[in-house]
Amino acid sequence: MSKIWVYAEVDNGKVDNAALEILTKARELGEVEAIALGPGATEAAAKLGEFGAEIVYASDDEVYSDYIAQPHVHAIAELAGDNPPDLIIFATNYDSRDIAGRLSAKLDATLVGNVVDLPAANVARTAIFGGSMFVDTELKGTTSIVLVRPKSFAPEPSGGEATVIPVEAEISDDLKRSKRLERHEEQASGPKLEEAPVVISGGRGLQEPDNFKLLDELAAAIGNTAVGATRAVVDSGWVPYAYQIGQTGKTVKPSVYLAFGISGATQHIVGMKGSKKIIAINKDEEAPIFGLADLGIVGDALKILPQLIEEVKKRKS
Ligand SMILES: Cc1cc2nc3c(=O)[nH]c(=O)nc-3n(C[C@H](O)[C@H](O)[C@H](O)COP(=O)(O)OP(=O)(O)OC[C@H]3O[C@@H](n4cnc5c(N)ncnc54)[C@H](O)[C@@H]3O)c2cc1C
Repeated sequence: MSKIWVYAEVDNGKVDNAALEILTKARELGEVEAIALGPGATEAAAKLGEFGAEIVYASDDEVYSDYIAQPHVHAIAELAGDNPPDLIIFATNYDSRDIAGRLSAKLDATLVGNVVDLPAANVARTAIFGGSMFVDTELKGTTSIVLVRPKSFAPEPSGGEATVIPVEAEISDDLKRSKRLERHEEQASGPKLEEAPVVISGGRGLQEPDNFKLLDELAAAIGNTAVGATRAVVDSGWVPYAYQIGQTGKTVKPSVYLAFGISGATQHIVGMKGSKKIIAINKDEEAPIFGLADLGIVGDALKILPQLIEEVKKRKS
């Protein structure tokens, strides 16, 4: 049976949702162990066990939150030692990408990025041509590493419990060269884009940045709703990159996805096509987004939005 390691990012005891998604998939592939490094890692072990990790290698040492990648790589390589796993799975997050890249060099292990599925422990599936085709790559060598796109799998607890094994790697000063100097918490009032049950997105059809306020207003009226955007408007500086959905942005799978003034380019669709219900509003009846939508409304988004806001408010009052 294959031995699978899942690297779980933790933030003061809270496990990154992507790690839970990956653990759920990893359970199908072999014996699953997780690695959690940084403050709150031991506390996070219970959650990791609940989602299928039989063993959690954990360290609460602040060195893993204060310094970037090098201490983690050293610790994981030491754990791998003479009995390395067949596969190490990382989520495509900023810190994980740094660690996975360096680890690949250190272990001389194959690394495949942008993975959307793992049909077997030695097969990584990636999407090409904006998600319209898939490629399966056979992973060879003692240990392989993959970076999986968040939202590729649905997280489901297995109800297990993990044994915690403390990570006691010595981190020398030589491994403390990239220090994290500051942390910025993004201010957000609503749910996270990747976790919201309803996502309202805007594209270039909204005409100007100020009109994004209409999406905020609709999101507030519906409640528990996040606002997203296409790359076209992010690149134009209308909204920050954190809003971007698609191939080079976030992947979302809400219950309802509303697209206002979005053409439906494949690079956008790849990030939202897993939504349960898609509602598209576009003034061009030939817009490709209508090919995907469960409900299509041909019309001017700027006229429809105020009416929709009023109607939702009326029904909620
Ligand atoms: C390598 C690469 C990566 C990319 N990654 C991403 C990505 O991650 N995410 C992403 O979104 N894009 C990505 N893109 C860009 C993508 O190809 C499209 O250019 C982009 O998605 C288009 O955004 P849009 O739909 O807002 O704009 P447009 O394509 O310009 O569409 C605007 C739409 O608004 C409609 N419209 C105009 N006025 C109104 C109105 N008043 N009411 C209603 N509808 C109206 C128009 O009919 C049109 O369909 C990527 C491109 C490349 C090359």
